[in-house]
Amino acid sequence: MEISSRQRKIISIVKNNQPITSERIADTLNLSRAALRSDLAVLTMAGILNAKPKVGYVYTGKTSASSIIAYLQNTKIKDIKAEATVVDENTSIYDAIVNLFLEDVGTLFIVKDGFLTGVVSRKDLLKSAMGNTDINRVPVGIVMTRMPNIVTVYDDSTVIEAAKKILEREVDSLPVVEKIKDKSGTENYRVVGKVSKTTITKFFVKLCDMVEGKHEDK
Ligand code: ADP
Repeated sequence: MEISSRQRKIISIVKNNQPITSERIADTLNLSRAALRSDLAVLTMAGILNAKPKVGYVYTGKTSASSIIAYLQNTKIKDIKAEATVVDENTSIYDAIVNLFLEDVGTLFIVKDGFLTGVVSRKDLLKSAMGNTDINRVPVGIVMTRMPNIVTVYDDSTVIEAAKKILEREVDSLPVVEKIKDKSGTENYRVVGKVSKTTITKFFVKLCDMVEGKHEDK
């Protein structure tokens, strides 16, 4: 069972005002009672709300396991992705480091002609800064991890898929990409976002808020 954003709002209203009648829930949401009937029926059947005759609805404190599983399975990367910080292959290592600080990120996605060619992490940059590399001259493209070794996800991938890739490949961040075929049939990847350990942690907190009925909007 998937809980809709309106159902989450209802759970939150009941939790904060219980016991509460369906009229008052409807008033709070600016809806008619009839429009609410099916949502209330679903939440009651799922055991999330309890309907007490002549008293109103109360929150049972339970979110059904199936609704949590559905939320986990149905949330796609496009729902949780963050903005990616992208720099060109020819950017110097020095400027890449400046970018890392300015954007407050740990990973930079590297592109050539607008398409993904690699990734540099904090430690890749630290390593070059500690060695004999002339970081003002050497481009970041020299020290990056290159395609096709980059682990990516798509807008329609699931959160669990991304979390597994992060763990298995022991990286902090994955670019979210869109596959684009050019006229010759060559496949290129455009970066449309990122999923990092922070993104996954935020999702986990949101999931817990949902279970506790705190979450009002998806
Ligand atoms: P750090 O090196 O700062 O601990 P990571 O663990 O993310 O950060 O990176 C480890 C190595 O993996 C680095 O050499 C980096 O270039 C590479 N890397 C980072 N993200 C990816 C990715 N999505 N796909 C492939 N390699 C990556």
